[in-house]
Amino acid sequence: MDTFIQTHEAGIRLGAFFGIFALMALWELRAPRRPLTVSKAVRWGSNLGLVVLNTFLLRLLFPVAAVGLAATAAAQGWGLLNHFAVPFWVAVPLAVITMDLAIWLQHVMVHAVPALWRLHRVHHADLDYDLTTGARFHPIEIVLSMLIKFAVILVLGPPVVAVILFEVILNGMAMFNHGNVRLPEWLDHRLRWVFVTPDMHRVHHSVEADEANSNFGFNLSWWDRLLGTYRESPRAGHLGMTIGIDDHRDPREVDSLPGMLALPFRGVVTGLAARDGGHAGNAGAGSGYAINRRTWVAPGGEPGGQA
Ligand SMILES: [Zn+2]
Repeated sequence: MDTFIQTHEAGIRLGAFFGIFALMALWELRAPRRPLTVSKAVRWGSNLGLVVLNTFLLRLLFPVAAVGLAATAAAQGWGLLNHFAVPFWVAVPLAVITMDLAIWLQHVMVHAVPALWRLHRVHHADLDYDLTTGARFHPIEIVLSMLIKFAVILVLGPPVVAVILFEVILNGMAMFNHGNVRLPEWLDHRLRWVFVTPDMHRVHHSVEADEANSNFGFNLSWWDRLLGTYRESPRAGHLGMTIGIDDHRDPREVDSLPGMLALPFRGVVTGLAARDGGHAGNAGAGSGYAINRRTWVAPGGEPGGQA
């Protein structure tokens, strides 16, 4: 299986991407979870335009890519799993799960650090939520993600196959859990014990600061459950909730390619600001880190959300 995956790497990557993209696009067309608010042609043009731009950028900057680095680490005996000669059948799942934890931590970090939130809010500023939302990231965040992945690979020493599997799974799961689709409730609940479902991740794209600072997972739902950032559903419900960020709601800014590229450099960092200048509990008056604003206070009321 090891050599099969490595020799057919390009085919597996492209097949998974286009296959899952087509399936999700069809599912969204047949049974959308929520009505879209912005023209799909405009959003898809911009979101997919950004994907194409990022793909070229990564090829240009990192011709070796993550798999190349993993192969070098294996040859040199770098990283924990290589150093301790962990058996292949243990190393592969362990590496995939550890890389998922690493990306969870990275995701929390880009919400917590104001300058990184500027970059990450490009992903959150999409006014609708569908499979293409899962692929829109600012090029600088993409480069930063790659550098973090390189560091993880050097420390962890994952098998090359684990890196390929992780990247294919993450790519597919991002399209799935950003899907504008609904699973039957019983299936959603069962899947959620292990995996992130569309309804689970949609909570993370709420304009409400406390909701956006929850459900950081992309693949496994364990990290949010174990580490205290899990939320079952949005207060307003999946149909009533508002997607995006509060202080950037002009489609020409947040759903056009030039606007998305410029977004990190606009305005003051207030994190996920509360509505209308904010009530103290939500906005923290623009002070502190976004991650600290996880308590929702109803206007003039007692804290209503989870701390
Ligand atoms: Zn996020």
